[in-house]
Amino acid sequence: MASNNKRKQFSLVYFVLMIFLVWIFNDMVFRPYIVKETEVTYNQFLDYLEGKKIGSVTLGADRIAFTLKDGAAGAPIVHNVVRVDDAQLVDRLITSGVSFSAVKQTEGLLQSLMGWVIAFLPLILIWYFMYKRMSGIGGGVLSFGKNNSQEIRGEKTGIKFSDVGGVGEAEVELKEIIEYLKEPKRFIHLGAKLPKGVLLVGPPGTGKTLLAKATAGEAGVSFFSLTGSSFVEMFVGVGAARVRDLFEQAKKKAPCIVFIDEIDAIGQARSTIAAMSGNSERENTLNQLLAEMDGFKPNTSVIIMAATNRPEILDQALVRPGRFDRQVQVTLPTAEGRLEILKIHAKDVPLEDEADLARMAKITPGFSGADLANIVNEASLLAVRRSADKVGMQDLDLAIERVVAGLQRKTTLSPEVREKVAYHEVGHALTALYLTHSDPVHKISIIPTAKGALGYTMQLPEEDQYLTSEDELRARMAVMLGGRAAELLIFGVSTTGASNDLERASMLARRMVTEFGMSRKLGPIRYSNPEGAYLQNQSSNRTDISQETLACIDEEIRELVTEAQNMSTSILTEHRAALDHISKTLQEKEIIMGDELRAIAKEISALERA
Ligand code: ADP
Ligand code: MG
Ligand code: ZN
Repeated sequence: MASNNKRKQFSLVYFVLMIFLVWIFNDMVFRPYIVKETEVTYNQFLDYLEGKKIGSVTLGADRIAFTLKDGAAGAPIVHNVVRVDDAQLVDRLITSGVSFSAVKQTEGLLQSLMGWVIAFLPLILIWYFMYKRMSGIGGGVLSFGKNNSQEIRGEKTGIKFSDVGGVGEAEVELKEIIEYLKEPKRFIHLGAKLPKGVLLVGPPGTGKTLLAKATAGEAGVSFFSLTGSSFVEMFVGVGAARVRDLFEQAKKKAPCIVFIDEIDAIGQARSTIAAMSGNSERENTLNQLLAEMDGFKPNTSVIIMAATNRPEILDQALVRPGRFDRQVQVTLPTAEGRLEILKIHAKDVPLEDEADLARMAKITPGFSGADLANIVNEASLLAVRRSADKVGMQDLDLAIERVVAGLQRKTTLSPEVREKVAYHEVGHALTALYLTHSDPVHKISIIPTAKGALGYTMQLPEEDQYLTSEDELRARMAVMLGGRAAELLIFGVSTTGASNDLERASMLARRMVTEFGMSRKLGPIRYSNPEGAYLQNQSSNRTDISQETLACIDEEIRELVTEAQNMSTSILTEHRAALDHISKTLQEKEIIMGDELRAIAKEISALERA
């Protein structure tokens, strides 16, 4: 693509140069023959006329043009005069005996057309080149809907399941598809019907694209892939044509896999997109896709796979039987899966003996495969930077933090702000430390992150959690409010830095009351919408909830949040010495690791007891 662009730029320069040359050539060759013009006054004209020097005269409505008899060699010089109101003009011309004629002085059609063309030529040229370039990139209008062979071409991916980690379930479900693609005859012989379409569903970065490629790789068949967004082009009709072309080519190469990545870009429910104008293109594409899927004979050994992280917005027509009727869930990896993925990506990375991938896997719940791949890559970059020949634990630790908190960036903050931030973060950390039900603190930092946080306290659960108890939720809320509690305790006011904490805490409290049935007053009733939208602003939509109940919900939420804040305040009051001491240490060191925090806190409480 880059060289293509360059070529176009080059030809543009070429073109301009050409025009310039032609112009110079013109000027040199035709200059002697080009009619020259000059302006004279009416007096001069009359003088010429009386002196009988004029050869011929052309009368216009408001101008007169004439040539002289003894013009120099070469082109005649046309003299122009503004015509004045001279009643004897014709008499004078007749007496002097020159030949004269009159013209209507409107521009000729051709002349005016030329004027327009010249005025618009630069515009037309610019437009033309932009247009060419655009269609060059998009494969757009000129190659109308015909996919360049480079765009849709079946490829042998060469990726195997051994390159994908932590997707056990999904792998099992795809095995059958692979069997079918390897030996379609066996299935057809027994009259077995396989799903036409398989939809991979899961959060971003969990390896859906990778898994689709691995499926093709394992079966040893061609892999045709397109992303949903590439269908939706600016030129009407291209999307649908592209779908048609994709399937046409795929059928020729059967058995094969057709993969449509990020299908939500075209597969959005039609009712929701109809409201917006200009999306009929997407709708056409979707209709074409549905038509193609229906048009397949069941024993064409082409399997259509698609991936999305938003299955709920897909058009129902897509997930009907005969289309994407099988869904394969690709979930975030468990600790075991994370270890597998880390190992896969660290395969070609020289690791120091003490670099413990198992520990890394343990402290990264919620990380996707892509995050983990990113961590390994970051770690090796860090190792390169410190000119080590192996990646050590320190690199991996720092890499995690980078991925979690965004790249660390040094900005200078005033000492007052730093003090407030330090107390705020230590408030979070100590609340977490002294509450039995909260996750252990991994790290406290007051180094601003690229994402704009002035500091952060990182907690890491010891294991993956699928169920959370009420006590744990209350503890979590208290920790969220710990920063604000510390600010109020020390400075008597809270800063805006606490507003995000406050928002998260209220959100959690609301869910506890309306979703988890954890309010004693309201009892185990779910008050939120079935879609899981919290009551927040939609409460007015729920006509079946009385005003009293709504007021009660608010009351309960307020109580939960206040309770949590009180919990934190009392912890911090009790451990005031630790709060002061650790905040000071944090201001000096900027980062305190969890173990260090626990050691300092222990020391101080031992001192206090003595
Ligand atoms: P998705 O399509 O689900 O958003 P991708 O397949 O594009 O995710 O994953 C992006 C990259 O992250 C992959 O190329 C791979 O390097 C890494 N990755 C993601 N999931 C896994 C996994 N389960 N095993 C190994 N690598 C993975
Ligand atoms: Mg993807
Ligand atoms: Zn905070």
